Amino acid sequence: MPELPEVQALAERLTERWAGVELAGFRPITFTALKTAVPRPDEAVGRPLDEVGRRGKHLLLRFGDRAFVVHLMQGGRLKPDEKQSAKPRGGIARWTFADGSALLLTEAGTERRAGVWVVADDPEGQPPLDGLGPDADAVAGDPAALATVLAGRSARLHGVLRDQSAIAGIGRRLANEICHRAKLSPFANAAKLSPDEVADLAAAMRTCLDESLAYERSRPDMSSSKERPGEVHHREGEVCPVCGDVVRAVEYVKYTVNYCATCQTGGKVLADNTTSKFLK
Ligand SMILES: [Zn+2]
Repeated sequence: MPELPEVQALAERLTERWAGVELAGFRPITFTALKTAVPRPDEAVGRPLDEVGRRGKHLLLRFGDRAFVVHLMQGGRLKPDEKQSAKPRGGIARWTFADGSALLLTEAGTERRAGVWVVADDPEGQPPLDGLGPDADAVAGDPAALATVLAGRSARLHGVLRDQSAIAGIGRRLANEICHRAKLSPFANAAKLSPDEVADLAAAMRTCLDESLAYERSRPDMSSSKERPGEVHHREGEVCPVCGDVVRAVEYVKYTVNYCATCQTGGKVLADNTTSKFLK
């Protein structure tokens, strides 16, 4: 799933190409593409694109006081639509512009979870952005802000990092990389981290986000998950580049927690005896 750096770099590329270009039309291609009935998408037609912004893992195509909020979910992509064919493969929705160009939202697979919300005025606090925690970019590098987020969240750190109502923009890959960079156990209780550990976590978030964003900005398009740089994510059995120990994994149905025991858990091998055997 695209996380904050991938979505941010995509938003920047789209703004560079389409800012100032007038919207000519919006057409949902699948029945489930458009998640809102009011306001109507046509209300943005005839207006120039101000920018493509980002909040958490969402893209915001802003046209004055109307915005299209796009969630790519797992396999969604928003790309220039060169062909503008009548039945584009994996097509979810299409924006056409007055200069004849178009943007196509596609989704790989059959889950059909990617979608578009049209919102009036400030999108913040409205679905689908309601309930989001502060942006990861805003708390990264800021131990005091991060401490506020973690206070009272008595749950495993890896899960809290991925919880969009706690911090918006981090997914499975960054949660693995941030815990490793901070030398913290993914199973550490987020509410019980010491001030030093919170400072390490805030610094690790900043570094991991900046490194990933620099990589995404160097590309002409969004990376696939396999291409993204990292030290532990999806590297089970490989050598930890920090200490030389082997990268380990705790497997869940929908994701894998990757970590280095020497770097992160004082050598303790993690096993999720409470849930993993039921979820496998
Ligand atoms: Zn290590």
